Amino acid sequence: MLQDKDRIFTNLYGLHSPDLKAAKMRGAWDGTKFLLEKGRDWIIDEMKKSGLRGRGGAGFPTGMKWSFMPKQSDGRPSYLVVNADESEPGTCKDREIMRHDPHLLIEGCLIASFAMNANAAYIYIRGEYITEKHALQKAIDEAYEAKLIGKDNIHGYPFDLYLHHGAGAYICGEETALLESLEGKKGMPRLKPPFPANMGLYGCPTTVNNVESIAVAGEILRRGASWFSSIGRPNNVGTKLFCVSGHVNKPCNVEEAMGITFRELIDTHCGGIRGGWDNLLAVIPGGSSVPCVPADQIIDAYMDFDTLRNLRSGLGTAAVIVMDKSTDIVRAIARISYFYKHESCGQCTPCREGTGWMWRVLNRMAEGRAQKREIDMLLEVSTQIEGHTICALGDAAAWPVQGLIRHFRHEIEKRIDDYAANPHSESVMMAAE
Ligand code: SF4
Repeated sequence: MLQDKDRIFTNLYGLHSPDLKAAKMRGAWDGTKFLLEKGRDWIIDEMKKSGLRGRGGAGFPTGMKWSFMPKQSDGRPSYLVVNADESEPGTCKDREIMRHDPHLLIEGCLIASFAMNANAAYIYIRGEYITEKHALQKAIDEAYEAKLIGKDNIHGYPFDLYLHHGAGAYICGEETALLESLEGKKGMPRLKPPFPANMGLYGCPTTVNNVESIAVAGEILRRGASWFSSIGRPNNVGTKLFCVSGHVNKPCNVEEAMGITFRELIDTHCGGIRGGWDNLLAVIPGGSSVPCVPADQIIDAYMDFDTLRNLRSGLGTAAVIVMDKSTDIVRAIARISYFYKHESCGQCTPCREGTGWMWRVLNRMAEGRAQKREIDMLLEVSTQIEGHTICALGDAAAWPVQGLIRHFRHEIEKRIDDYAANPHSESVMMAAE
C-alpha cells in the first residue's frame, strides 16, 4: 500500500486551493530551474531509469518515447502535445489533476518540452470538460504572470503553452486523430507510419503524452528515479491513479502503488464489494475497452500492466469497473458495444461495419433471440476486426466481446435456451427490457 509521503497528487480531492501559491507550498515548481540546468540527456535518462510507463493506456515507457524525438532540429520545430481528451468510459483521473493540481501538469509540460527541444506545447482537453478547462486556463495564466512559462521566463527556456478545447468525440483521444483535430480538421486517425515523432503536428516532430504521465515528471525528477522505481513491482513501478466505479460501497479515485492487489485496493479505499466478496461477478480493470475478468481470477491479482495482460485483459487507464452478481453481463457488454459503434469514425470497413454488427447480435443475445452457433460467429467476426484497422478503436470494440464469450459463454447459452423454451416468459421479457 502506498504511504502518504510517497503520494504525488497531494490535492487530488480538491481539499486545498489549486492556485499557484498553494501549489508551490505543496512542492510544485520547486527547483525546476535546477532540473533544467542538468540538461536534456539527464532528464531523459532519469525518466528512463524511473521505469515510468505511459499512463494513457498503452503503457509504453515514457522516457524512451521522449528519446525518439530528434536531438538536432532539421529546421522544423518540435512539439509536445498532452492528451487530455479523457473519454474512455470509467476513466476520471486526469480531470482531477486538471481541476485540483494543474500546476503539476504545467510544470511537467515545461520539463518534457525542454527535454524534447520543444518550445511550445498544446494540451488538448476533452469537449465536455468545461470546469477543468477553466481551472487549467486559470493556472496557465498564473504561470505566465509569474513568469514560470512564456517567452521570457525565469527558467531561461522560452516556452509557450496552449490549451485547446475539443468538441467531444471519443476518437480524438487517439493520438493521430487528436493531431488532426488540433490542426482544425475532422478527428480521423492517420495511417502510421509516419509516426508523430517524425511527422506529427503540422508535419513536425511531436510527442503525445497522457496528462498523468506528464504531471508526474516533475516529482520523479525531484525525488529521483530510484524513488519512483522502488514503488510497485518489477517492470510495473511507481504510483498510479485508479478510478474505481460500479458496485463497490464507496467508488473513488485514488493514488496507489502500481501492483496493489485488487482485493487490497477495494477493501482499503472502496469499502468492499457491494454485498460482500461472494457477490462479485466480474471486473473490467482498465476502462471499457479491455476484456472483463471473472471474480475468481481478479480477486487476488496484482493491478499492473503485466499481470492483467497475462489474464488476457489490461490495465489500460486503470479505470476499474466492478460488477456484482446483479449485473446483466451480456447486456452490459452490448451497451459497451453500442458506445464503440457510435464513436467509430467510419474510415475502416471492419470497424465501421463490424462494430454495428457486433452490437446488433449482442443485443439479440441479451434477449436470447439467437442461435448458439452465432456465438462462435461473433467471436470470429471480432477477430476479423481486431488488428485489421487503422487505429485501436477496432481492438477496443472487439476485446470486450471476446472477454464476454471467453468467460460468460454459458450465460449467453442459457439465455438462448430459456428463450427457445418459452419465448414469451416473464424472465425472458425482463432480460429483453
Ligand atoms: Fe476510424 Fe474505427 Fe478505423 Fe479507428 S478503427 S480509424 S475509429 S474506422
